Order: sequence, then C-alpha cells, then structure tokens
Amino acid sequence: MDILIKKARLEEGAELQDVAIKDGKIAAIGHAIDADAKQVIEANGKVLVPGFIEGHIHLDKALIADRLPNKSGTLKEAIEVTAKLKPTFTKEDILDRAQRTIEMLIVNGTTHIRTHAEFDPSQGFTGFEAIMELKEKYKSFIDMQVVAFPQEGIFKAPGTEEMMFQAMEAGADVVGGIPYNDSPAKEHIDLVFEIAKKYGKPIDFHQDFKDDPEGMTIEYICEKTIAEGYEGQVSLGHVTALGAVPKKQLEPIIEGLAKAQISIMSLPATDLHMGGRNDEYNVRRGLTPIRALRDGGVNMCIATNNIRNAFTPYGTGDLVQTAMLAIPTAHLGGAADLPTVLPMITTNPAKALGIKDYGIEVGHTANLVLLDTESVTNAIIDLPTRLFVIKNGRVTVKTEKIVTVYR
Ligand SMILES: [Zn+2]
Repeated sequence: MDILIKKARLEEGAELQDVAIKDGKIAAIGHAIDADAKQVIEANGKVLVPGFIEGHIHLDKALIADRLPNKSGTLKEAIEVTAKLKPTFTKEDILDRAQRTIEMLIVNGTTHIRTHAEFDPSQGFTGFEAIMELKEKYKSFIDMQVVAFPQEGIFKAPGTEEMMFQAMEAGADVVGGIPYNDSPAKEHIDLVFEIAKKYGKPIDFHQDFKDDPEGMTIEYICEKTIAEGYEGQVSLGHVTALGAVPKKQLEPIIEGLAKAQISIMSLPATDLHMGGRNDEYNVRRGLTPIRALRDGGVNMCIATNNIRNAFTPYGTGDLVQTAMLAIPTAHLGGAADLPTVLPMITTNPAKALGIKDYGIEVGHTANLVLLDTESVTNAIIDLPTRLFVIKNGRVTVKTEKIVTVYR
C-alpha cells in the first residue's frame, strides 16, 4: 500500500475504519487492515471525508478588492467597478491571482472545482486562456472544470456569440450563461442549450440574482431542460429571487426543479453581502430558500463564487467557512438540519459536476481530507483544521496545529 489511514471516522456512530490507498485508488476499507504501507496516518478517531467540491468560483477576478472599492456594496456598483478594472488585467496578473486562489482552496481540502472563466469582445480570451493553462498546471492537486462564461451577456455584447463557440472548441468543459444580464433572456437560454447540445456539455447558469421575483426565468429553464432531455446536467447559481417567492408559488417551481434534476448552488458569501441593499429595516438575507429546496428533493449545493473583489470583499478559500455562513442565515443549525450541510460541499456538488468515482469506497480515486474533529455531525461547525489532504492517492497538504495554554 502507498498510504494506510488508521482508525478514521467515516460515519457518525459507526466503528472506526482503516482506509488503504494504492496506485491512486482506495484499495481497501476495514477494521485493522494488516498491510505494509509507505506512509501510515494515525487518524485516532478523526473524521475522514471525501475532498470538498467547489461548484462555483471565479478565479479570474479574485483578489482585487484592494484595487478599487465597491463603496455602496450593490451589484450595480460591483459590475461597474469590475468593468473599470478588467482592461488593466494582463495574463500574468490573472495567472498570479488565480494561482494564489487555487492554493487557498487546496490547503483547505478542496479537490475539485468548477470555475467560470469569462470573456467578451473587448477583453478577448486573456482570462479564459490563463485559466485553461492553470487547469493543466494544477491537475495533480485539483480537478478543474472550466465554464465558458459570458459575464457581459451574449446579445448585449455583440461578438460574444461567436466567442462562446470558440471557447467550446478551445476545450471548455461547461457552457455558462447569465440570462438576467442579457436581453432577450429566453433567447439567451435557448442559445446556451443549443451550444451545450452541439458539444455534448453540461450547462451552468448564473440565475435570478435579485431580491425580488420579477423577471425570473427559472421556470422556463425547468421546461427547457426537460424538453431538451438535459435532466441532471443543469446547475443554477445564486437563485436569490426564489427567496422572495411565497410558499404557494414556490412549491410548483421546486417540483419543476426536482423533476428536471437541476442542481442549485447557493453562494452565501456573495448573496448575503449584496442582497437586501435597498432594505432600510428588516433587511432581507437574500439567499435562495435552501431548506425548502432541499426538502423538495432538489440537489442543493453551497459554493464560494468570489473571493475578495467588488462582489465579495472577503473569503479565505475555505468551503467549510462558506457552509458555516449558511447555517445561521438559512436556519440549518437544528439537530435534523446540521447533518445535511456537509453533503452540500461534498456529495451534492459531486453529483452536480458529474464526478463519477466520488466518495470513500473501494475502487474510487483517493481524494480525501482528514479533519481535526471526531464528529461528522459537527464537521462544519467545528471549523476543523484540515490535517491531511490526499489527491489522487498522494498527500498534497499536511497541516500541523500547536496550541499551548500557559497556566
Ligand atoms: Zn458567479
């Protein structure tokens, strides 16, 4: 064996297990596995989870908050500030910031990401090409899916339609879209489906990012997904407007999402920062209705979106902290709710991203994180140190924490 992890906690209340890894795969799981290994990790009852899955992040515009502040904190100013900064981005600059961000994710136990790489006729493919380079460079640390993302719209920014096809030809893994920032929104959605079908790729929309439900196109996407036979291949990020829909109207939408097997990515770090900015009192939380979606059978995920820019002026690349943000704000702290949060950054986004051999099972690729906690239920609220990160059967990160109390 290459690595033998001894006495790990895989499930709450179950016996501790040894996990043996060979040639990048999980070779055995059992009690007191008797095998020689090049490296032995004594878990001592600590929780072992599959690597965290970052389902929605923008690497190309991370770490720019100090360059030009968003004073109002609104989405409108965030878009304006970022549009001013974009012409100053060189490829070297994007590579430098994106690499630092990827490394923040890696040390925090993330083994897979889906990143939106944007382009438009005025900026060209500088950022997109930088991200495609990093996908290759970091492949032994993190698997990256790159979304061809038309941030400025497709029809609103003439020339972008052609660029969408060029990005797919250049190897993009997912077709992106942003119906709320384009007109006509339905034609934008139709075009994204057309491109996705042509290249046989999944779809990921930035969707209904507003405090109010007017102009939502989510119902159209549900219909379109089923009509095109795209069930299980569509993800939607933000979807905050759904939080403003009363229960009676919300129920059929949730049924539609579940039927179309659409995954929802809540982005609490951004949505809490930007939502409810026009509310002077009883300020809305501006999140998608996570509990109702989960209870309605929708594949519910939590992701980061942005780190330290005009949309989200904070963040450390730690998905556990991001999930923690959703616990009080989406009422996920109850005894029955808490165990449902960890899957929102592990198994659920793995399903959304179509990762085939995910999870701690014999024969699966060994992508694992050993957490400094002995409770699976509390794996988020303990904000545990990531003691070891294992990617493709190799230890990529080891973190040691020494706390000394002087009495
Ligand atoms: Zn986004």
